Amino acid sequence: MLESLTVNEQLRARLESATRLGALGVDARDLLELFRALYDETTRVLDATVFLFAVYDEASETVEVVRQVDRGVEHEGGSFPLGKGFTSEVIRTKAPRLVRRWSTEGPPVRLLYGTETGELVTPQSGVIVPIMSGDAVLGVLSAQSYRAEAYEDADVLSLNAIAAQAGIAIKRLRVADQMAQEHQKHALQLEAVLASMNDALLIVDARGGIVRLNRAARELLCLDSASLVLGQPLERQRLEKWPKTAREIATALVPAIDAIRLGTSVADVEIELKAGQRRVLSMAASALRAPNGVLQGGVVVFHDITEQRELERLREDIFEMAWHDMGTPITVIRGQAELLLSRLSSGAGDPGASKAAAASIVRHVDRLSELLTTLFDVHCLEAGLLSLSPWPTDLSVLAREVTEGIRSSVHHEIRLVADESVVGEWDERRIRQVLMNLISNALKYSPEGSTVTVSISGGERTATVAVQDEGIGLDGTELGRLFRRGYRTESARHVAGAGLGLYFAQGIVAAHGGRMWAESKGHGLGSKFCFALPIGANHTADRPVAKTA
Ligand code: ADP
Repeated sequence: MLESLTVNEQLRARLESATRLGALGVDARDLLELFRALYDETTRVLDATVFLFAVYDEASETVEVVRQVDRGVEHEGGSFPLGKGFTSEVIRTKAPRLVRRWSTEGPPVRLLYGTETGELVTPQSGVIVPIMSGDAVLGVLSAQSYRAEAYEDADVLSLNAIAAQAGIAIKRLRVADQMAQEHQKHALQLEAVLASMNDALLIVDARGGIVRLNRAARELLCLDSASLVLGQPLERQRLEKWPKTAREIATALVPAIDAIRLGTSVADVEIELKAGQRRVLSMAASALRAPNGVLQGGVVVFHDITEQRELERLREDIFEMAWHDMGTPITVIRGQAELLLSRLSSGAGDPGASKAAAASIVRHVDRLSELLTTLFDVHCLEAGLLSLSPWPTDLSVLAREVTEGIRSSVHHEIRLVADESVVGEWDERRIRQVLMNLISNALKYSPEGSTVTVSISGGERTATVAVQDEGIGLDGTELGRLFRRGYRTESARHVAGAGLGLYFAQGIVAAHGGRMWAESKGHGLGSKFCFALPIGANHTADRPVAKTA
């Protein structure tokens, strides 16, 4: 191509070509763009009537033709295993090949490599050079002409120079590709981490627009894509369309997003959500900066601390109850013990009074220990530390033992109506506690001389226990609240109690897979407390009992 130019023109053309070569392929974003740059440059300096750019995969020994041109028409590439043609030879020998007369030196070539339909073309001459990186062959460039003797050694040098630039560009593209893959891998990993997080997380851009939410955040906000426009700052969102909880969160978000816009952080702000179910969230926000210090935006994280706060409240409640309920027995114990002490020191001998004082001390110590056990049990139930040890247990035998044990020490009539034998897999110690609680309540809340009836009946699948009294009774509202922690009815205030017994008993029954309920026709008309247990093993045996209620 250059032979018709004068020597000076040729030199200028080659110098210009050298300058262009420096920038060859630097803008190419992929192999196709690189192919175009290589083709443009090649046609400037030599006859590229037929032009081919291929990359080589050493591991599979496969030549991948990126693209080919024949008489100005671009054709798809294809791939072929290393074979016997000139292209393969150049890859194998890593040396350029100048074919002056193709018809005498080699076979016709098939355009559209790798496809059977490829048209056979018959170039008369060609120049093929390897694209090298150190010692490795990255690919080949091939220019062919339908004229014989179209190329000379200088053309090999020119194409070699282009191939050198192609090598640099291919390496750069591979690094970029690798980086993009790494980037994508990290993005996927990050996505997976965000999706598996229990904390709700929002990513905010530097202008304060919410650009991303993880699964937990979407669940927390309960927003559909129509109500939340990603990338829009909060003030431009249609907050009036948001559900109540989401609006409460949005109010809390305003100062957090403002802090991010200013490049600062917000730590552990507590938010109480009142709409719907009461929830307590802890919110933290921090700004994110690029390595050069430019503000990128930030993240806001919401951590649900409702359970933690509930537990704290429970501890406070238990402490208050303990403080309140232990006060009386301790005062009595101290008073009686002082009395006993002064009698013993003065030698004043009234054995009857001393015996009464000692008996009172024993009673109140029993009361204290019972209270401590209940507090401990409730604490374990709440903390999920209570475990069941189910064993074949006969409820009728158990009820007989319990009622006989109590009968002698109370002023009520205790009747037991029980089936012959009602056996199931239950934790005997815990069911005894439940039964004791119901019977002692029946005794506490009914007048002396009245009757307490304990009934045990076994069905095919469930066993039912009922404790009926003739006492103070309950109205509808009270029946609905009975099993709440610490609940006591107005009419029960004159009797000592902490309002924990039924709560705990219900927890034990629920842990066995059963249920507990109460019936009453109203105040003064007595009450009936029942619970039903599944006969089969339906409970969380030997595992911590989950918190109930
Ligand atoms: P406590 O008896 O120590 O107060 P419980 O949890 O056992 O605690 O009972 C909670 C409340 O339920 C009692 O304070 C009382 O108001 C009511 N209650 C329980 N059993 C009966 C009953 N048999 N008759 C009437 N009220 C009862």
